[in-house]
Amino acid sequence: MTYTLLYDDDHGLIRLQEILKHATADHKWMVRRLKPGEDNRPLLKSLKATGVTRVILDCPSDRVLEYLRHANEVKFFEDYMSYVLMSLDAHTLDLEELRYGLSNVTCLRIFDPSDSTTASSLADWKASKSDNVKIPGQAHEITVEAALASDAAKLITSAVESAPDEFKIEAQKIQCDTESQWELGEEFTNHLLTHPITGITDKITLDNTTGERTNFNVEIMELSNSGFNSIAKWNAKTGFLYARSPNDVSNILAEKWQNKTFRVVSRIGAPYLIERTPKEGEVLTGNDRYEGYSKDLIHEILKETLHLNYELEIVPGNGYGSYDKETKKWNGLIGHLLERKAELAICDLTITYERRSSVDFTTPFMTLGISILYSKPTPPPPELFSFLKPFSVDVWIYMAAAYLIVSLLLHILARLAPNDWENPHPCDKSPEELENIWHIKNSCWLTVGSIMTQGSDILPKGYSTRWLCGMWWFFALIMCSSYTANLAAFLTNAAMDDSIKSAEDLALQTKIKYGTVEGGSTSSFFRRSNVSTYQRMWGAMESARPSVFVKNNDEGVERVLKSKRAYAFLMESTAIEYQLERHCDLMQVGGLLDSKGYGIAMPFDSLYRTAVDNAVLKLAESGKLVELKNRWWQAPEGSGCVSEEAGEEGASAAELGVDNVGGVFVVLGIGCGMAAGMGAFEFLWHVREVAIEQKMTQAEAFWAELTFALSFWETEKPVQHSRPSSSASESNMASRASSVLRSAADLFHLDVFK
Ligand code: ASP
Repeated sequence: MTYTLLYDDDHGLIRLQEILKHATADHKWMVRRLKPGEDNRPLLKSLKATGVTRVILDCPSDRVLEYLRHANEVKFFEDYMSYVLMSLDAHTLDLEELRYGLSNVTCLRIFDPSDSTTASSLADWKASKSDNVKIPGQAHEITVEAALASDAAKLITSAVESAPDEFKIEAQKIQCDTESQWELGEEFTNHLLTHPITGITDKITLDNTTGERTNFNVEIMELSNSGFNSIAKWNAKTGFLYARSPNDVSNILAEKWQNKTFRVVSRIGAPYLIERTPKEGEVLTGNDRYEGYSKDLIHEILKETLHLNYELEIVPGNGYGSYDKETKKWNGLIGHLLERKAELAICDLTITYERRSSVDFTTPFMTLGISILYSKPTPPPPELFSFLKPFSVDVWIYMAAAYLIVSLLLHILARLAPNDWENPHPCDKSPEELENIWHIKNSCWLTVGSIMTQGSDILPKGYSTRWLCGMWWFFALIMCSSYTANLAAFLTNAAMDDSIKSAEDLALQTKIKYGTVEGGSTSSFFRRSNVSTYQRMWGAMESARPSVFVKNNDEGVERVLKSKRAYAFLMESTAIEYQLERHCDLMQVGGLLDSKGYGIAMPFDSLYRTAVDNAVLKLAESGKLVELKNRWWQAPEGSGCVSEEAGEEGASAAELGVDNVGGVFVVLGIGCGMAAGMGAFEFLWHVREVAIEQKMTQAEAFWAELTFALSFWETEKPVQHSRPSSSASESNMASRASSVLRSAADLFHLDVFK
């Protein structure tokens, strides 16, 4: 930042030395000498050409008007110029002819003539004054020098008057050639230093050792339409006290700018600024040609809050603003502001360090971060046998193999295990033979019962077989739980999107291309980032052919939609929110990569900066900003996307259709069919046996058995005895009788029959 120091005598340069000591690389000083009474316009014109805007003018108050007039004549007293007048009497000047200029003029004063104490001291002073000397262009009658001299005299007279008697202050003969001093001089000095008085410049207290004044007040005065007004006060005790409320600031601004139309520059981009389509017969002019969030916001700030007129214009090229290192120039909105073609720039303009070093920004009116816009995976068509998906084909095969092996092993172990060889008739204490129920059919039945979580009513008794069963149950438990846990996710397709989940995932692959808006803050985030992931992403973006950069957000969204998941767009979260409301097949991937805000930009030294900033804060606090955002972000009723998590309809998204679980019905159907087939086979086999036993034709046996099977009311079936062949029938009878007796003995626990 460059400051210009203008002085017009040698003392000025000496005074300004203190300021010049503070020159740094960031604060440069340009020092020029004005010539009193001469034409200073060429010098001021050349200064204007350098683009300096901050001027410190050090000259006696009677020459201020002359120099400012010259500046005004060469248009060096315009918008964005700030003048600080060093003369402490400057506030007494009548600068009426310059009041309506748009430059900021500030000066300091150390006493307020309208203050009651000052006014009474002034009255005393006036009464004692013999002639009234008036400074040309000066409204008041007392200068700072006179006020300070008067206060100094008052301090001494008051000290003398109030001196104790022993000082005996009397006129003495002065002898210039003696070295003798006034004996009481030191005591009187001490008395003077500890004797505070109140003068024109308020209370005067002095430092006991240095004798310097310790308290004084400074007021900062600013030139407005009504003359110089106090904007802040300073003293050593209280520091700065600002005298103006945000309302005063906007009132003063409105007063100063009432005849001016603010030029507000923006760019076209939904939902910030959109060109309105005229209704039939309607001709749109001026600001009515546009609508959008930016227009509503600037209207609220300038028209509703600050009561100023404004005119919207679109920046040529529709760019946000980036710095071209070759031409050393800014383009887009920032360039437009720097060329002083507009007072304010508003759109989704991100506040960045680089931009902030060239223009000023208000407090952010919206906060956001970079995120990834990508298209949603198209759900795979529902599959009939999707219930098989929780396990891979390999796992199903291994499970089937495990089932067969365990069933076989159970069968073998049971045959080896003595405990599994049981007495078929427990009542018979010394059976002739033992029975083993773990033939392959029962072994398979036990293993299938447990993996289906149904169990079985026959259980092994041997150590090895029980251990084997335990292990199989453990296996069944884990497999069933894993299957159940995965099943829901697979049936609703939720876990099927195996693509990118974050910026890191994007950086680690090359299949999906990604890009940003060209020349925007998002691309400069990646270009400047020190994070290795983002650096890698920037490298990939730069080297991608065809280019992955787009001109604006709309083009980026279009590319994501058309690319069939081959392109992801790095975009600001606010814009993503807007797009997600309107495009149901888009989604945001991952969180925010950074955090920043949009601000209204303006050239440095804008007089209206505080007022516009205050208006933004006021709108934020009143909830107006949220209201505006809702108005422009929400999709028109009925056309928005319903998020999957929200609402009842969301819940129905998790419902499974026949398409998803149809396969289970198919399996059940096939199973039933196979059972029916087996049943028919069993029945026919039985018919064949009956036909042989009963010496009937197979057809007779078939119809007899079928008729009986279909007599549903019959619940008991008589035992069919084969037709007698004498001796066989006798032995049969004997064995049948003994078996009946044994059963009866079992029933009544009678040992007699055994
Ligand atoms: N809002 C951004 C900007 O101000 C645009 C972007 O890069 O996404 O540059």
